[in-house]
Amino acid sequence: MVPPVRNVTLEIAGAASWKNASAEALARAKRPLLVLDYDGTLAEIAPTPEQAKPTREVIALLESAIAAGITVAIVSGRDAPTLQKWLGHLPIHLVSEHGGAHRKPGGVFVDRVKTESLTWFPAARAILTEAVAKAAGAMLETKRFSFSFHYRNVAAEVGEKVVSGLALRLREQLPETVELHHGKKVLEVRPTGVHKGVALVDLAAHTRADFVLAAGDDRTDEDMFAHAPRGTWTLKIGAGETNARARLDSVTELRGFLLEIISARRVMREKKLHG
Ligand SMILES: [Mg+2]
Repeated sequence: MVPPVRNVTLEIAGAASWKNASAEALARAKRPLLVLDYDGTLAEIAPTPEQAKPTREVIALLESAIAAGITVAIVSGRDAPTLQKWLGHLPIHLVSEHGGAHRKPGGVFVDRVKTESLTWFPAARAILTEAVAKAAGAMLETKRFSFSFHYRNVAAEVGEKVVSGLALRLREQLPETVELHHGKKVLEVRPTGVHKGVALVDLAAHTRADFVLAAGDDRTDEDMFAHAPRGTWTLKIGAGETNARARLDSVTELRGFLLEIISARRVMREKKLHG
């Protein structure tokens, strides 16, 4: 069930108290869950998708969350091999392709989409490959269940035109079981009903979380914010319209905020242990 859209302006206006309240809720939670997008949220957006691999700082942040007894889930549009290569050594949940597959801590990726349903794949690939050949700088990422057409490095005035033409063509040629999603300088082509909102609800239920904080920067993260169970602490990174309850300006701010609330939890737990 989708909760009603909240009064975003009002909620975001109280950012300072939001921070304190979320820190306190995290400190008290028995089974806290952090659900984080990767690119543009935890890590800065890089010129090419391969260049965004996690820094030592990002790994250390995730490790400190784990050490504080927090369940961590990375929910990304990236494919499973990339997430596994970058973050697979950590005991965290990894959700690839916006919910296409899920790896529990220490486990292996399990498909959430039936690959036999992907009959549209060859047709989509043909159209997308042709578009890449025509637009200098464009790049096609072929994943297990979906495609990402990246146009970050295409001249701005050309990029938007290419993508609107491409979207039209894909919509005409592909069945209803396929959805197009416009992200930041990326067009995603993926099966209907696969989105981060479903992933978030599944994770919250699976971990029986009594505290959920979900953060993201892009339109695909709005699915999380819109479907988040009541009481979820939703956080938008950067500018743009959002259904999230609060906003931080940058990746750096988010990492700083997470470190703060994680350390507040650790302090409280240590007090409990020793005092
Ligand atoms: Mg992102």
